[in-house]
Amino acid sequence: MFQNVYYERKVGTSQPCYVCRRPTTTVLATLKTEDFLYTCQGHLTDVGFATLIAAPSGPSADDIRKVVDEYRARETRRTETKAEKDDKDDKDKDKEKKEKESGGLLSYLPSLPGFGHEEKESSSPKSPRSPAPVTPVNVPSSPAPPAHRKFALHRAIFSSRQGELARKAQTARAKEVSKTLPQAPRGSF
Ligand SMILES: [Zn+2]
Repeated sequence: MFQNVYYERKVGTSQPCYVCRRPTTTVLATLKTEDFLYTCQGHLTDVGFATLIAAPSGPSADDIRKVVDEYRARETRRTETKAEKDDKDDKDKDKEKKEKESGGLLSYLPSLPGFGHEEKESSSPKSPRSPAPVTPVNVPSSPAPPAHRKFALHRAIFSSRQGELARKAQTARAKEVSKTLPQAPRGSF
């Protein structure tokens, strides 16, 4: 019917905890909300009720470290390349002049103020060491808790939930059937 995988969610209105009836705004719900139950923080960490499986979305601490490392490496590379480029710029200017004289492609480019230098840098395929365009990476200073933690209900509780939902479904089906058939055959439930 559905998996024993429940996601922690927050709701605006508090409801009694499934176990201890204490009011709580935390809900454990399956992915498609086939089932959900209100759970206080205390019972969220009660292995007799539910066990934290994993953080489903969001990078792990390792992932974040990797991204940070890559980002730093890119930054370093960019600084190095920039230093090299300063040298290169003089040569480029010479070349530009020559191309203009010879009616090269560059002579068609609009001579807007500030145009050329930056544009050329990013679109230039001439320097192979030029790093790919860097998209700013939002690196959290510390691994934030993921939005939706994933839990598995205790086996006994899960099977009682399944049973309860099956009963409900059965009742709903029986009602549906009894609407159309005056003498609905009883299921062997
Ligand atoms: Zn509770």
